[in-house]
Amino acid sequence: MELEKIDEEDGKLRFVVKDSSPAMMNAIRRISMNQIPVLAIEDVGIIENSSALFDEIVAQRLGQIPLVFDPKKFDAREECDCEEGCVNCEAKFTLQKEGPGKVYSGDIVSESDDVEILYDGIPITELDENQEIELEATAIVSIGEDHSKHQAAISSYQYYPIIDVDQEELTDDEKEECVEVCPRNVFEVDDGKLKIVDEKRCTLCKECVQETDFDGITVTSDEEKFIFKIESVSSLNPEDILEKTAEILDGKAEKVIGKLG
Ligand code: SF4
Ligand SMILES: [Zn+2]
Repeated sequence: MELEKIDEEDGKLRFVVKDSSPAMMNAIRRISMNQIPVLAIEDVGIIENSSALFDEIVAQRLGQIPLVFDPKKFDAREECDCEEGCVNCEAKFTLQKEGPGKVYSGDIVSESDDVEILYDGIPITELDENQEIELEATAIVSIGEDHSKHQAAISSYQYYPIIDVDQEELTDDEKEECVEVCPRNVFEVDDGKLKIVDEKRCTLCKECVQETDFDGITVTSDEEKFIFKIESVSSLNPEDILEKTAEILDGKAEKVIGKLG
């Protein structure tokens, strides 16, 4: 299996995978979404909440706030040697604010030097005059399979497109129509020829084949080559998510080999 990076921006990583299979792509997809440990608020102790929201809703909102943490420093609570929670398996937060005004994620105070709130502007609740919120919260590391608030990424893949253009079969008008009909701007007409600008943009929608019904164009796919996308929905960057995915996959393979004796 060979990987080649296409691009990475705004927490989204795209890469080409050669010499692989749908089974392997699915394994990477599922692990990257559901098995990567991510820190999220789990326990909330409400001291005061006179806002319009129920305590449970406030706690649920806190759980969805992405946290910046060092994955190497945190153990899952059940795997930690301590009995009642420690700095290796928990991160503590406090929140105290009086109305009037909105309460944002940026109002949460982290008690740990190496844990931060990723975005300050996420609204939690709103306080009127004489209303107040005060709480303590504890975050733990867990995986997306247990709860979506621990999900690291949204991952997907598609087969690598193979686009064949027969210049002789297409008239100039038909070439222009191919350019217009493609929603991904895969084609351009240059010097009278229909050129493929970038086949990696193609989503295999087949609009160029079905809408036009031209003989001079075919779109198929390579069954051993894929375009994979990892979009981080946590504070982890997609390359780290991919690296951790490979590590977990490796561990699973070792276990299977171990069972074979
Ligand atoms: S299959 Fe769809 S995305 Fe791909 S080249 Fe044709 S129209 Fe464009
Ligand atoms: Zn611990």
